[in-house]
Amino acid sequence: MENLTRDDIIELLKDDSQNKELFSYADEIRKKYVGDEVHLRGLIEFSNICKRECLYCGLRCENKNIDRYRISPEDIILYAQKAVEMGYKTIVLQSGEDSFYSAEVMCEIIKGIKKLDAALTLSIGERSFEDYKAFKDAGADRYLIRIETTDKKLYEKMHPHADFENRIRCLKDLKKLGYEVGTGCLVGLPNQTIESLANDILFFKEINADMIGIGPFIPHPQTPLNDEQSGNFTLALKVMALTRIILKNINIPATTAMETLNPNGRIIALQSGANVVMPNVTTTEYRAKYEIYPNKICINENPTKCRTCIENKIKSIGRKISTDYGFRKN
Ligand code: SAH
Repeated sequence: MENLTRDDIIELLKDDSQNKELFSYADEIRKKYVGDEVHLRGLIEFSNICKRECLYCGLRCENKNIDRYRISPEDIILYAQKAVEMGYKTIVLQSGEDSFYSAEVMCEIIKGIKKLDAALTLSIGERSFEDYKAFKDAGADRYLIRIETTDKKLYEKMHPHADFENRIRCLKDLKKLGYEVGTGCLVGLPNQTIESLANDILFFKEINADMIGIGPFIPHPQTPLNDEQSGNFTLALKVMALTRIILKNINIPATTAMETLNPNGRIIALQSGANVVMPNVTTTEYRAKYEIYPNKICINENPTKCRTCIENKIKSIGRKISTDYGFRKN
């Protein structure tokens, strides 16, 4: 499975007869390029307020059937501090597109967290070059912004009033500013083709992404896609495995959405190319409210339990918990 062409990728995605070989080859490449260590990133979902209308997402502004919250800058820093005390070497801040968190407010949070001994990743959506620069100057190390799909028509259908070119602009600006950049796609969006998933993987390579998050689409009852079918777990896993085989030394999380569709989803992903897990480090009160899709895992758990649980699972498959910051390996 060396030097895969677009046609090879399409063939592998369509045909299930070589899945076992595909997953074990991705596991080999993972071991060779990034080793047996698993990086844990402490995830803080700090606001579920969002001005966007993404058709698939439960946080979309038209959803009135959701209890909205915002965590204060002081409390965000406090959660980060507790996570660092628990052993996390990276903090990930994620939210809807909430304009309360202006560049000024974000920079205050970033500086507070960067006083701790941790790398910092942001995942707060589309912003201007100036905002991204301010966040970088304040100390942010990485940024996650999934392209969701590279099929422009489908992208525009899924994101009313949004501009595909602006999403690309964000990724390019972030690279230019020296962030480690993460992107990724949803697998199983209505009318998404296998060919477009192959293009997604080639796009990740083309922009030289440092991190790739792949997850199955899960229909949310309070969205226009409520009657659609869920994405397929195995297909999402295959897109992830092919991404490992093609991009080799990048960081790839075993995503929470994978575990929502399969009770052992994250461990299966870790054995098919993934090397990162992002446990939630906020208290129970916010977890159910950050409902991008239904049946999210661990919504009744607390940070200590999540850490112990995932550590035990990782050790049970013979892997180690990394104690470094987990930047992309050269
Ligand atoms: N506002 C930020 C963070 C979005 S939430 C941003 O725009 O980047 C993080 C990811 O959750 C999204 O990028 C999307 O891929 C995923 N997501 C949203 N709704 C989903 C659903 N219904 N099923 C599966 N994943 C979903």
